[in-house]
Amino acid sequence: DAVLDLSGIEKTYNRGLPSEVGVLRGLDLRVAKGEVVALVAPSGAGKSTLLHIAGLLDTADAGTVAIAGRAMTGLSDRARTEARRREVGFVYQFHHLLPEFTAAENVILPQLANGTARREAEAKAMALLDLVGVAPRAGHRPAALSGGEQQRVAFCRALANRPKLLLADEPTGNLDPETSDRVFATLLKLVRDTGLSALIATHNLDLARRMDRVVRLDAGRII
Ligand code: ADP
Ligand code: ADP
Repeated sequence: DAVLDLSGIEKTYNRGLPSEVGVLRGLDLRVAKGEVVALVAPSGAGKSTLLHIAGLLDTADAGTVAIAGRAMTGLSDRARTEARRREVGFVYQFHHLLPEFTAAENVILPQLANGTARREAEAKAMALLDLVGVAPRAGHRPAALSGGEQQRVAFCRALANRPKLLLADEPTGNLDPETSDRVFATLLKLVRDTGLSALIATHNLDLARRMDRVVRLDAGRII
């Protein structure tokens, strides 16, 4: 019962040009239900490419992608976008919160976009902000929050629509080491509390070791 199942994934950029670069070369990766997997890769190895394909933001040249048992290969752009909104949450190194909205509103808005009623969306946002200890700051705009608080709000936004899979790219990479440590612990707790499955890219081996399994991306495959 894999939540993410990547099989035989191949991706080449600029095919046929002098600048052609084969990034993923028959990559296989499975993330089980409730499993938290660390993805470790040197810069340029194709980590972002892999996360974008797993998160239905980009398509592979070959291979299959399944999320929660559903084949995502060969979908129309529209069906893929719908599946992404429903099934996947993303967290990046920078929070990308909307600056003109409060922390709470940043967690509410994606729910409204998905058709959740306002009252329910507000309650969900407050429950999530409470889980990560930012509820007292819910009425502040991102600029008034610390880096760690901003990133915690971004975690809540990613989980607001109850995705099955969380994909994170250096989720605490822009924080100082001590804050990074604490905020990362919060992310892990949130993932555990909500029963999510996660694939989390990081350069930090100490953080990687706190996850269920560490995989390495090398020469276009998982080793
Ligand atoms: P990472 O996230 O591990 O640093 P990326 O997935 O961003 O790696 O990139 C892997 C390789 O693919 C790099 O050599 C990069 O230059 C190349 N690449 C990434 N995106 C594109 C693109 N849109 N067009 C051409 N080459 C790309
Ligand atoms: P409860 O079911 O009592 O609300 P949970 O521990 O299941 O307690 O959830 C705590 C909070 O996290 C609740 O607000 C819940 O809606 C939210 N939550 C639970 N699962 C998910 C999920 N997969 N994605 C996002 N939020 C979730």
